[in-house]
Amino acid sequence: MLDRLSEIVPDYPSEGISFKDLTPVFADAQGLRRIVDAIIEPFLGTFDVIAGLEARGFVLAAAAAYATGTGMITVRKAGKLPRPVHRDEYTLEYGTGVLEIHRDDVAPGTRVLILDDVLATGGTVGSALRLLELAGAKVTGVGVVLELEALHGRENLAGHKVHSLQLV
Ligand code: AMP
Repeated sequence: MLDRLSEIVPDYPSEGISFKDLTPVFADAQGLRRIVDAIIEPFLGTFDVIAGLEARGFVLAAAAAYATGTGMITVRKAGKLPRPVHRDEYTLEYGTGVLEIHRDDVAPGTRVLILDDVLATGGTVGSALRLLELAGAKVTGVGVVLELEALHGRENLAGHKVHSLQLV
């Protein structure tokens, strides 16, 4: 299903990057339901809230939060959140970035599941982990649809339970 619906876009957003576009999976009724069900399955009962990483992680996290009766936190790129934030700078496969969460997004001790579409170098998820831990949350798992194995992102997330639906 993932192979049939996902698109590979060569040299996007810059030369040499093979971009894995999951928007056709999100647009497919069965595709969306199956990836959301599968991504949360190993973590059921271990989280109080789900953090989605901007922007494609929002799709997964909102659907998964609704399905599990939990809430959702938006981990956003710099300058998008209106109230005081925790801020973290990170490197990713193509460039650098800054992620932010509202300082009062999670109460200390809250168990958080992080969801995103693609794990590449692990820089983005690593940044989200630091932010959530700074806020006093306990990250109990990381779920992604695709894992770019050659980039060893999982190694940057040592000590955390990482579940991907497919290695590419
Ligand atoms: P990284 O921080 O290197 O693990 O990159 C992961 C983040 O960048 C995720 O939010 C992905 O959506 C995006 N990303 C990085 N590389 C790719 C890729 N080859 N195809 C699609 N998305 C990617």
